[in-house]
Amino acid sequence: MFIFVLLGFTAPSITRRGTLMSALLNLLPHRLSQRLTALYFTVSSFSLQRRPLTTQQTAMASMTVTKIPALKDNFMYLVVCNATRQAAVVDPVEPDRVLEVARAQGCKLNQLLTTHHHWDHAGGNETLCERYRQNPDWGELTVYGGDDDRIGGLTNRVRQDDAFTIGQLRVRCLSTPCHTTSHVCYYVEGPGADEPGAVFTGDTLFLAGCGRFFEGTPQQMYDALIGKLSALPDGTRVYCGHEYAVQNLRFGAMVEPANEDTRALLEKAQQADLEGRRALVPSTIGQEKRINVFMRVHQPSVQAFVGQSTPLDTMQALRAAKDKF
Ligand SMILES: [Zn+2]
Repeated sequence: MFIFVLLGFTAPSITRRGTLMSALLNLLPHRLSQRLTALYFTVSSFSLQRRPLTTQQTAMASMTVTKIPALKDNFMYLVVCNATRQAAVVDPVEPDRVLEVARAQGCKLNQLLTTHHHWDHAGGNETLCERYRQNPDWGELTVYGGDDDRIGGLTNRVRQDDAFTIGQLRVRCLSTPCHTTSHVCYYVEGPGADEPGAVFTGDTLFLAGCGRFFEGTPQQMYDALIGKLSALPDGTRVYCGHEYAVQNLRFGAMVEPANEDTRALLEKAQQADLEGRRALVPSTIGQEKRINVFMRVHQPSVQAFVGQSTPLDTMQALRAAKDKF
């Protein structure tokens, strides 16, 4: 019983007491806490609802991104360079499903991008590495992630502005600590300047929301959302780690009842079933600047809701309000 109480508290998507229990979980050896979290997600993904299996694709001139639902409300992403068929996967918590999709698309998957160490994102890393060891003809699997021993299978530890390629696609790493100390977002661009890029934001930026401040400060989330992610071109597609649209937009509509963009998107989200809501991802940086209250902490309307007058105090107070929402 204790285990399930503990596990219930650890799921960032479900609990309001996550910060406290995350701290308690950090007291356990990392392997034990990962196992308990794995058990929790496995049980909840089978017991809470039927698991939707539909993948959705965005095809651009230079890249194709396939969104693969995982667990209860996570997203994994397969990113393919159209010219070379080289591919990378972001947060493959269900590695065999990813391999199935990669096989069906006939791409060469040799890179794994980890946003952060939480089990529902990095929990498949070691299994995927094992599959590559068992099949040497697939070639090497390079595993990227922040400098953190809690991430399994890491081969390449990345920092702010580190860059690499997926075929002809350019990837730039954005260090965004706060949800966890080593959280990384990945900005991917095609070779030409004529199409928008894509950013994979893990649990830092969600559609209309942001991740909990488990291991960081309001200043760090401010730097991530305002300093780094808001600075990307408005057309950048935002691929986040979870489907939380309705919950986040309801909070946004409470903070800014006069925001027409928020109300319109909330209405759309509420009319859709889970599959339809998943279709709201990707968002764009431009849309997030219009609807995401955590990216709007300079707005008088948002500051007024929490009774603060600076963006940083507003960030802190908003997160506290959302934790209780
Ligand atoms: Zn997380």
